[in-house]
Amino acid sequence: ELLARDVCAWFGGRLVLDGVSLRMEPRRVTALIGPSGCGKSTFLRILNRMHELVPGAELAGEVLLDGEDVYDPRQRAQQVRMRIGMVFQKPNPFPAMSIKENVLAGLKLAGIKCGDKNALVERSLLRAGLWKEVRDRLDSPGGALSGGQQQRLCIARSLAVRPNVLLMDEPCSALDPTSTRRIEETIAEIGHEVTVVIVTHNMQQAQRVSDHCAFFLAEENQPGRIVEHGETDRMFNSPTDPRTLDYVRGHF
Ligand code: ATP
Ligand code: MG
Repeated sequence: ELLARDVCAWFGGRLVLDGVSLRMEPRRVTALIGPSGCGKSTFLRILNRMHELVPGAELAGEVLLDGEDVYDPRQRAQQVRMRIGMVFQKPNPFPAMSIKENVLAGLKLAGIKCGDKNALVERSLLRAGLWKEVRDRLDSPGGALSGGQQQRLCIARSLAVRPNVLLMDEPCSALDPTSTRRIEETIAEIGHEVTVVIVTHNMQQAQRVSDHCAFFLAEENQPGRIVEHGETDRMFNSPTDPRTLDYVRGHF
């Protein structure tokens, strides 16, 4: 399980997340929802130590993956990011690299040896729902794919290193409805093998893909907090906090 305990975050001395605690169930999908600026992306970056890459960023609290401190100074951040992968809003494959090289890029960076590269490429692309479309052109450049295909290539690249957790920050918001559907199918499939945490502004999508949901909110001049979290069905059908109700009702 991935566990955040009393996480606080600052940028240039300004508190933007205040006391966020959340348990993300293993091999389930957790959706982070909430208005713009409430700290969802910040929280996601904290989960895999990308927060420390931001100049002026500070952090308090704990993140534990299966009981191990993600911020243990003896662990290299790169090792952590292998176990906790990230997919961004804007697909970012290496455009000049071939599709196959893109899938293998994470392994290469981490210095992992892999026996049967072709099998790994096929399996990763299959899981990302891209194999059928690209099997005949694995040597063509990643940049030549459509936006939706590039995003699935990025998912395949993340999956190739066999992460325990996959973080996804609005992975579909730059994509058309068909590509969005494909990615949702992929999430449905991998969500039973990998712990997925997805940020989305699309409430239908949150309902379709997630098992659990956490509602973030930054009230006026206040840092972001989790107002309520729980099983997705309950969060949408009978939230206990009126602010959650307001938000989910207002976004359909
Ligand atoms: P959105 O839905 O628009 O993506 P979000 O919930 O992901 O919003 P964050 O991007 O996490 O929100 O931002 C939370 C707060 O932290 C905001 O007030 C934002 O201005 C601030 N912030 C985020 N990144 C930085 C940064 N690199 N430097 C300074 N402030 C930042
Ligand atoms: Mg964001």
